[in-house]
Amino acid sequence: MLNLDINASALQDLPVYIHVPFCDSICDFCAFSKVLSEKNLITKYVECLTKEIKQFCNKYSFDIFSKTKTLYFGGGTPSTLSIDQLERILSLFNTDAIDEITIECHPDHINLSYAEQLLRIGFNRISVGIENIDGNMLTRLGRSPHNKPISEISTIFHELNFDNWSVDFMFGYSDMSLDSFSSMLDYALGLSFPPSHLSLYALTVEPGTPLYSRSQFELEDDLIRYYTLIENTMTQKGYQFEEISNWHKPRHGSVHNQNYWSHGDWIGFGPGAYSTVLPYRWLNTKKVKSYIDKIDSAISPIGHVECLSKMDITLETLMLNLRTPMGIQQKYLPEVLLKDGLVVVDAVTQRYILTPKGKALCNYVCSQIVL
Ligand code: SF4
Repeated sequence: MLNLDINASALQDLPVYIHVPFCDSICDFCAFSKVLSEKNLITKYVECLTKEIKQFCNKYSFDIFSKTKTLYFGGGTPSTLSIDQLERILSLFNTDAIDEITIECHPDHINLSYAEQLLRIGFNRISVGIENIDGNMLTRLGRSPHNKPISEISTIFHELNFDNWSVDFMFGYSDMSLDSFSSMLDYALGLSFPPSHLSLYALTVEPGTPLYSRSQFELEDDLIRYYTLIENTMTQKGYQFEEISNWHKPRHGSVHNQNYWSHGDWIGFGPGAYSTVLPYRWLNTKKVKSYIDKIDSAISPIGHVECLSKMDITLETLMLNLRTPMGIQQKYLPEVLLKDGLVVVDAVTQRYILTPKGKALCNYVCSQIVL
């Protein structure tokens, strides 16, 4: 296993991310580490993942059982794993002592029995990748439509009296109208048992994905309208701004993700998982087969390591803070951004925070940060 110059004291009370790279079908816009679900491959992956976790913990004296603060299963689609497989991974952790354990689920995988068992084995936050409630829209985006409506998912969680659930909706693609996005949002928020957290994010079409080659977006003005609509709707419904793409009801923020946004350290396991223990950031190999081969041969799955300079860390921290209600001190941005309506001064903290226009043009605002 590769040697990183980190000591055990840096590895206390860290959030842990687990990447589950399996999906029932592959979306045309996806740039994550993922492969089609296949029973034998999943079995082998679970074996390798548990090996990777144990190897890392032995090497760096990381007491993962009692020192994990939050745990997040992301993907890919973690709900492609059976309850037994998830339980096997969770057995490496003291789930009773972890504040928040999240799993991302495909809507079609959620039924009363599966959801009930997820809660029984320790998950206390469930994030459902709906993306759009209109199947035709999903097809045009190159994503297989799901069969389970969000209303049915809401009913299942209501029956379990489980309100710590989140949905993902995408916007910002040429086929979608602001009205259809607005209706979708109203529909989700109007459910009798609505999600307590929503991730509302602009689709980023990454180079190299199938959708990239056939997309032509000219969205700046549109994006401003989307972010304005989101801010108005979500605040009106009593949700709080958590991060540029995330809103939650009071006391239902994502503890795990808030650590990322405050530039905290974390450890990631599985193919394509990032980890950060400052000043180091490293990335596991993205290809599932290569990940499995490496673990089987007792070779580190880490594919890339970088050591961040103090300047990198400061700049990244400012950029992350700017995406949240924390904002940044006025000295870091030119005043012209205030005049241009990209930021406002927070009445309490006197720091700059993004307006909807600033959120739409966040990359530009970040490029104006002066250290
Ligand atoms: S977007 Fe999600 S479901 Fe689609 S291929 Fe990527 S990881 Fe899988």
